[in-house]
Amino acid sequence: MSWRGFARALENIPIGNCVICGESYSSRTSVTVAGKNICSNCYRKMKNVVNSRIKKINGALDEIEKSISLKNNLKNYSKLVESAKELLIYEKKGFDIFKNFTPSQIIAEYEGKKEQIMLDGIRADIDEALKKSKIAATQSAKITPFNKILMLIEEYKDEIKDKAKLKELELRAKELKYETQVDMFVEDAKKAEFKGDKNKALDKYMEALYLLKNMEISNLKFVTKEKEIEEKILKLK
Ligand SMILES: [Zn+2]
Repeated sequence: MSWRGFARALENIPIGNCVICGESYSSRTSVTVAGKNICSNCYRKMKNVVNSRIKKINGALDEIEKSISLKNNLKNYSKLVESAKELLIYEKKGFDIFKNFTPSQIIAEYEGKKEQIMLDGIRADIDEALKKSKIAATQSAKITPFNKILMLIEEYKDEIKDKAKLKELELRAKELKYETQVDMFVEDAKKAEFKGDKNKALDKYMEALYLLKNMEISNLKFVTKEKEIEEKILKLK
């Protein structure tokens, strides 16, 4: 063995075990991170995982704050918690490398917030449905957005424990749907009146009145509308 070869052999003598995988490393193949020695394989993996998961967590937090929709919120919630779980190993091994939060803090905080995140998503979906309905050109397109919300609520209702909050959102969606329907009948009635078609006008006002009398929601707006429509019907009869 030459001296050169001997020196190289010394460099490769194991001097410790990697904190993460437990494999032995030599001085040449180890890296010190936050005061702990790890093998170069684990270092490479750590660098990739930590950087990419922190990026994912920050992205998910931003999106959740914007509260886009129920489906997006659920997707971002999973992204957040799963990414934090993948970082847990480094926290458990004692690497003090997380600045503003630790993975276990993120998990603890958001595991209790899932329901709120879902409810916020439904609320955002209702606002969006109202916007879509307002700009829709056809009558069915004005109603569809609200039906979609009601189906979504039906789909996720078992996952939400706060039934009172859920019911409140469901009633809000129904209220907007009924209001849109009543306004559509009244608009048709007014058009028929304008054209001199009394029978059609009467029929459309009756449709609106039937809806108002049979809906499960009562509010001042609907009571006022009902009175106005009843007066109209009396005049037309
Ligand atoms: Zn290792």
